[in-house]
Amino acid sequence: MINFIQQEIENDLKEGKYKNGILTRFPPEPNGYLHIGHAKSVCLNFGLAIYNQGLCNLRFDDTNPTKEDVEYVDSIQEDIKWLGFDWGDRKFFASDYFGKFYDYAVELIKRGLAYVDDLSAEEIKAYRGTLTEPGKESPCRNRTIEENLDLFARMKAGEFADGEKVLRAKIDMSSPNINMRDPVIYRITRTTHHHTGDDWLIYPMYDFAHPLEDAIEGISHSVCTLEFEDHRPFYDWLLDSLGFDVNNRPRQIEFARLDLTNTITSKRKLRQLVEEKHVRGWDDPRMPTLSGMRRRGFTPAAIRDFCERIGVAKSNSLVDVAMLEHCVREDLNSNADRVMAVLNPLKVVLTNVEENKTEYLVAQNHPARSATRYVPFTREIYIERDDFMEDAPKKFFRLKPGGEVRLMYAYIIKCEEVIKDAEGNITELHCTIDPTSKSGGATAGRKIKGTIHWVSAQHALKAEVRLYDYLLTTDEKGNLPEDFIGALNPQSLIVIENALIEPTVRWMAAGTHFQFLRLGYFVIDPDTTPEKLVFNRVVSLKDTWQKVKD
Ligand code: ATP
Ligand code: MG
Repeated sequence: MINFIQQEIENDLKEGKYKNGILTRFPPEPNGYLHIGHAKSVCLNFGLAIYNQGLCNLRFDDTNPTKEDVEYVDSIQEDIKWLGFDWGDRKFFASDYFGKFYDYAVELIKRGLAYVDDLSAEEIKAYRGTLTEPGKESPCRNRTIEENLDLFARMKAGEFADGEKVLRAKIDMSSPNINMRDPVIYRITRTTHHHTGDDWLIYPMYDFAHPLEDAIEGISHSVCTLEFEDHRPFYDWLLDSLGFDVNNRPRQIEFARLDLTNTITSKRKLRQLVEEKHVRGWDDPRMPTLSGMRRRGFTPAAIRDFCERIGVAKSNSLVDVAMLEHCVREDLNSNADRVMAVLNPLKVVLTNVEENKTEYLVAQNHPARSATRYVPFTREIYIERDDFMEDAPKKFFRLKPGGEVRLMYAYIIKCEEVIKDAEGNITELHCTIDPTSKSGGATAGRKIKGTIHWVSAQHALKAEVRLYDYLLTTDEKGNLPEDFIGALNPQSLIVIENALIEPTVRWMAAGTHFQFLRLGYFVIDPDTTPEKLVFNRVVSLKDTWQKVKD
């Protein structure tokens, strides 16, 4: 964990700051599911705590009831645990501090630093000015403290309609930083909150609540994304105004958010995909959400590895999604057992193999491990249609008329006859085996260029296999188009109904990974039932990241 934030923490510790230890937090707003960008923040915040023998809080930043839901509170916890982190008993809700926030707001009013404003949202916006023009003061700005205290209490008591009044900080309408032009800190909205029910009619704004949440919890380092750099002066103003000790308050450090090629990392857009049913749900395997990636078969170890490798920087950049896929491939290459599966089957009859006989051949489950399994071999098998070519070019080392190829773990076979239907489509091949060429046998070393996978027709299990591509079509650099709904990739899901898999995968649970030899990495989908196996392709074998790096 060597990054600039860790260096800053070490500097602080050297200067004798944060004597109570390092305390970070992951502060999601429960208004959507976590995505790969959040994973970066989770890994960073928990990682910094672990590295510095500190603690990390999980805090739901639930100050906006109009968009939040308990479904998200639950999914966020499940996803963080899946990623490998545990907050122990340190789960907090910003909404638990609503009483304190209210008291702090009253305190600001008493210090002459906040006022109730009657302007409408549009007027406030118009009065705010622009980057080049100063803002204009509201006619309500100079209300007396007594009047403000009275109006704010009546806002809380429900005497005014939603949006009729707001509470604003009184700072500087001509500040070059627009965030300092009397930001709204409380608004009225009659919305039931998923955690506090109907206790409140007024809710604090994010910028008011967030620094207070950190300060209340005694966070030492408040790590956030770059867009909050411009908000920091307001946070400092607020804590100064309320008398928080300058030498012992959360230190905000900004880092670059994760942007990935071909990948949406906006919660709003992800929600739109779900709500408009462009995907099956938040956990659709094409979604960059943690629950989608989990279902897709990405592993927590791979995601953590990815987050470590991309590092933490001070300026925004676009990371190639191929790097994430590379991390997944590396993890599965080390850990997934190998099996044979045929996605596009072509029947092969081995004419010199006895009918109704099964020979069990020994196959290694993983090149780096000793475990083996039996693979049934019979007179009728299936091979991949692509592994046969009638008019094959010279360099085609798989099966062709009169040609030979090795069946993995089994025999060398020779194609004797191509059988076609009335339309001329190839329906099956008749081949013979060389009985002396059994894998591991005395003559098995006979030189043959091609080796292909296969399954026994009698024993193979039928499966549905879902192949995924990126949800969006992008330019060649992977940048997302503005109109992302218009750019949805119609090929992002291809379903193969009748794939055939060797029987080894029977009784394996959803979430179990395999390498289908020569095809890619696959995982059993939770849609699997005793009657029907369903697999998702996690990634293909081809690693484009290696190519990018070279
Ligand atoms: P919203 O627009 O709803 O605020 P958000 O993506 O910022 O969306 P939060 O729930 O506020 O969602 O995010 C929780 C934490 O995750 C924040 O600290 C935020 O900075 C961090 N985070 C969000 N997106 C990314 C990203 N793409 N890269 C790194 N960190 C991120
Ligand atoms: Mg946010």
